[in-house]
Amino acid sequence: MDASPPHWSTRIQALRNAADAAGLSALIVSSPVNLRYLTGFSGSSGWLVCTSADAWLITDGRYEAIVRQELAEGTLAAVKLEKVETRYDPTLASLLGRQGVQRAGFEAAHVTVATLRRWQGLAPGVEWVPTEDLVERRRAVKDAGEIRTLREAGHKLADVARELSAWVARGRTEREVAADIDRALVAAGFSGPAFPTIVASGPNSAFPHARPTDRVLTNGDLVVLDFGGVLGGYCVDLTRMAVIGQVAREAQALYAAVHAAQAAALAAVRAGIAASDVDRAARQELESRGLGAAFLHSTGHGLGLEVHEAPRIGKADGSAGDNLEVGMVCTIEPGAYVEGLGGVRLEDDVLVTTDGCEVLTDAPRELIGV
Ligand code: ZN
Ligand code: ZN
Repeated sequence: MDASPPHWSTRIQALRNAADAAGLSALIVSSPVNLRYLTGFSGSSGWLVCTSADAWLITDGRYEAIVRQELAEGTLAAVKLEKVETRYDPTLASLLGRQGVQRAGFEAAHVTVATLRRWQGLAPGVEWVPTEDLVERRRAVKDAGEIRTLREAGHKLADVARELSAWVARGRTEREVAADIDRALVAAGFSGPAFPTIVASGPNSAFPHARPTDRVLTNGDLVVLDFGGVLGGYCVDLTRMAVIGQVAREAQALYAAVHAAQAAALAAVRAGIAASDVDRAARQELESRGLGAAFLHSTGHGLGLEVHEAPRIGKADGSAGDNLEVGMVCTIEPGAYVEGLGGVRLEDDVLVTTDGCEVLTDAPRELIGV
C-alpha cells in the first residue's frame, strides 16, 4: 500500500535498513524537516521513533486531533501515535523501555548535549549512538513526485525572472524591487519566498549576501537579483543580473567571466562526477581570468525541503565529499565580487541526469539592461 506520491513507507523502510546496517534497534528522528520528509508531519514539535517493525510519532496534545485526522485520511505516514502526557523526554524513555530497545541511534546534528544527557538519565540501560546524515543522504536524491514538484517550481521561478525588467529601474530602491519580486512569487503560486530576496546594487552587489536597502538604483550599477520560492514544500533558487545604464568595461568583463564559469560548471554536471569537480570547472574559468580570489563561495547547493541541503557543490575539503547522482537537484551559481567595482552571480537549478543535467530555471541569462 501507500503508493501515494510521498512514498512515506518506502522512505521509512530505507531508513530502517540504514539503522539495521548500523546495528541500531531504534532510530530517533528529531529534525523537523527530516520528520516531514519521512511522515508528512509538519507540526513544530514531534519525534519519530523507528524500530525494525514499527514507527511511532511522539507528539503532544496540540497536534493529536490533526494527526488522527491525517492518519485516517492517509495524508500522514502510517505511524502509531505516542501522545506526550507531560514531557517529551519521559515519553520517549518509556516507549524505548516498552520496546526493549538497547541501542538507540539519534541525529547528532539535531540533538543538544543537554537533551542527550536527559535521555541518558531517563534511560540508563540504553546505549545512545550518534548518527549523521542518515535521512539527509536519502533526501538528496529526489523521487519522481519530488522531481515533478521541483520541475514545476523551477519553471514558475523562471517565469518570474522573465518579468524582472519590468521592476528594475533607475530611481527605484532595492527594497521596492525586492517587494515586487516577492509579490510576483506569490502571484505565481509559490507559498512564499524560499529566503529573504536579495536585491544588491552598485557597491552592495560586492557582498554575496547583501540585504535590500533603501539605496536608489543609479547609472552604472550592477544589480544582483537573487530570489527563490517554495512550492508544495520544495524550494527553488535563482539569480539574474541587471545593469543600470552604462556600466564600466570591467563590470562587463566580470559578467562575461561569471557567465563562462556557470556554463563550464553546467557542462560538467552529470551523474558520477565528484561535486568538487563541478566546482573546479567554474573556479578554473574564473582563475584563468585572474578572478580566482573574487569567487567567495561554493558553486552550488542541493535544493529540496530546505533551500540549502545536500549535495554541497564546493571545493574538495579532504572528506569523502559528494558524488552527483541521478535525481539530485542542485544550484549552479558561481559569482565574482570585487570591492569598488561590484559583484556578479548567475544561478540556475538543475536536475542531475545520467549524462548531463536538465536546467529547471530556463530563463534568459543575459544582462538585463535598463
Ligand atoms: Zn540564490
Ligand atoms: Zn543558492
